[in-house]
Amino acid sequence: MTVKTILTEPNKLLRQISAPVQKVGKEERRLMDDMLETMYSANGIGLAAIQIGVPKRIIVMDISKDNEKKTPMYFVNPVIKHHDKLKATYEEGCLSVPNQFAEIDRPSKCEVEYLDYDGNKKTLKAEGLLATCIQHEMDHLEGILFIDYLSKLKKSMIIKKLSKNKSNRIVV
Ligand code: ZN
Repeated sequence: MTVKTILTEPNKLLRQISAPVQKVGKEERRLMDDMLETMYSANGIGLAAIQIGVPKRIIVMDISKDNEKKTPMYFVNPVIKHHDKLKATYEEGCLSVPNQFAEIDRPSKCEVEYLDYDGNKKTLKAEGLLATCIQHEMDHLEGILFIDYLSKLKKSMIIKKLSKNKSNRIVV
């Protein structure tokens, strides 16, 4: 397993729409392993393939707490079948939008159809943190970031801040 570099906003790749996976094979499983390793090393609870520059509809997640057993989840070609009208609000952050947080409303429950690590078709009924997390990650597959739900002003302030951090960054 390899820890990959996580792309950060602003980056055109993060705005790309990811393509469906034809078959869950060796290559896809290796990608999922790398994604999980990358997510754990960054202390994240979810990661979409495009965040490491791979435009495939693949997500990994693990919402277990620090003191709990690790429970990795893999979603290939996820599709939301139903979502609740009732909204839930969480303060969201994103590994691709470092150090920025904002309260975002999303449907509080959803039902997702997807292929698992072995390519088997599964359905998941999600609520709470799990529902929010999967919807956040699925947005990545459409090139959407959580800051897109904020006001234009707030969003542009965040992007400005991130751009500034980038231009000041040196690698020696
Ligand atoms: Zn994210």
